[in-house]
Amino acid sequence: MGAHLCPKCGENTIYFDGICHSCSQRQRRNEILNLSADEVEAMILKIAERIDEIEKWDEICNDFWALFSLLDIHDPRIARAAAAKQIYYPPELYFGAPDDVKDALITKLNSLEDNSKNVLNHLLCALAWQGGEQTAELFYELYKNPRPWRKKLYVGTEFYAKIGGWAFDETGERKSLVFDKCLTAVRVKDGKRASQSANLNSNQSADEPVQIGEPTGQECEFCGCEILDMLRLKASDPRLAFLNLKHDAIFRCCPTCVGSVMYFCKCGADGEL
Ligand SMILES: [Zn+2]
Ligand SMILES: [Zn+2]
Repeated sequence: MGAHLCPKCGENTIYFDGICHSCSQRQRRNEILNLSADEVEAMILKIAERIDEIEKWDEICNDFWALFSLLDIHDPRIARAAAAKQIYYPPELYFGAPDDVKDALITKLNSLEDNSKNVLNHLLCALAWQGGEQTAELFYELYKNPRPWRKKLYVGTEFYAKIGGWAFDETGERKSLVFDKCLTAVRVKDGKRASQSANLNSNQSADEPVQIGEPTGQECEFCGCEILDMLRLKASDPRLAFLNLKHDAIFRCCPTCVGSVMYFCKCGADGEL
C-alpha cells in the first residue's frame, strides 16, 4: 500500500492499512484507563498466572507495563508469582513488593556464589525496585562490606539503589530521588504541551510553565541537526513549586545525538550547553 495519511489523525503518513502508531497507542491507553475494577483484577490474575510469558515481550509483558505505568499497579501477587518462578526481569515487577518477596530475593542473592553475572545484575535491580527499609540496610551493608561477587559487577549497590529511585549517603541515610508529585503532559490549544496540575488548557504557549521540544535555531556540532529545548520549566510557576527550582530549568539537547557520542543532555540554569 502506498503512502497515505493515517485515517484517524490525518497527520502521520503510514504505508499500511489501519491507523498510525501514535493513534494505536492512544487507543490502547484509553482502553487501559477505562478498565473496570473487575477487569483490572482479571488482568492481574492473568499476569500472575502466566508470569513466565513476560520474557516473550508479548501480551503478558504489555499488560504488565500497561497496569504499571498507566494505573500505578504493582500487585504483590504478581511479584510473588515472579519470585516463585525466579523471574527477575523486568525489575519493576518488584516495585514495593512485600517482605516475603524481598526475603525470597535476598535468599536467592545469598545462594548466588557461582551463578552468572546476569542473574546477579537482575536480582540487584529487582531489590532496588523493591526498595524497602531492610533492602536499604542490606545495600548499605553490601556497600561497606562487598561480597566476592562485587568483582563481577561494574558498579556497587550504591549505584543499584538509584535504579529503584533512591540513594544512601556515607552514613547509610536513605533519601528518595523522585518527587512524590507526578504531572501529566497534555496537549494545549496551539499544539504545544504543558503540564496538567490544574486546568492549564487556556494558557498561551509562551507562558506555559512546561514547554517541550522547542527549536533553538542552533545546530548540533556533531550531526548538524537542530538543537532543541526538550524541556523548559518555569521556576516561578506555583504549580511547579514542589521542584524547588532556583532558576528556570532548560534541558537542551540534540534529539539525534542525545543517547550517544558522550553527548548527553547537558544543562545549566540558563540552558547553556
Ligand atoms: Zn494517526
Ligand atoms: Zn546531533
